[in-house]
Amino acid sequence: MSGDAEWHEVAEKFWPQWRRIFNEGMAEAEVSGVCPACGKQTLHRWYRLLAHRPHMFGDQAFAGPGPLWEWCSTCRSYVSFCTGYVPAEWVPPYDVELDTIPREPDLIERARAAAMR
Ligand SMILES: [Zn+2]
Repeated sequence: MSGDAEWHEVAEKFWPQWRRIFNEGMAEAEVSGVCPACGKQTLHRWYRLLAHRPHMFGDQAFAGPGPLWEWCSTCRSYVSFCTGYVPAEWVPPYDVELDTIPREPDLIERARAAAMR
């Protein structure tokens, strides 16, 4: 798999494993576990807090509403959730300039890659 792969939504056959990996934590930007699609340990997530509106769901604390992206920077499998809540413990490890809320995490991945340099 090259880094030049096109962004594409996670294939259905990889979905159960993808969910298992991402559901193990909520607030880690660098997700441990290997990508079910390409086998690389290059899974990431990023939340965008849209409004500070603390809320509890059960015993989980959330900072407010905001979208979530989950992606693999190697094969560019991704999924995005436009409506969700950002965990209270989420600390963005890098800033991303977003004028709109894109489906694909391309700008986020660019910001991540730049921050890693
Ligand atoms: Zn992958």
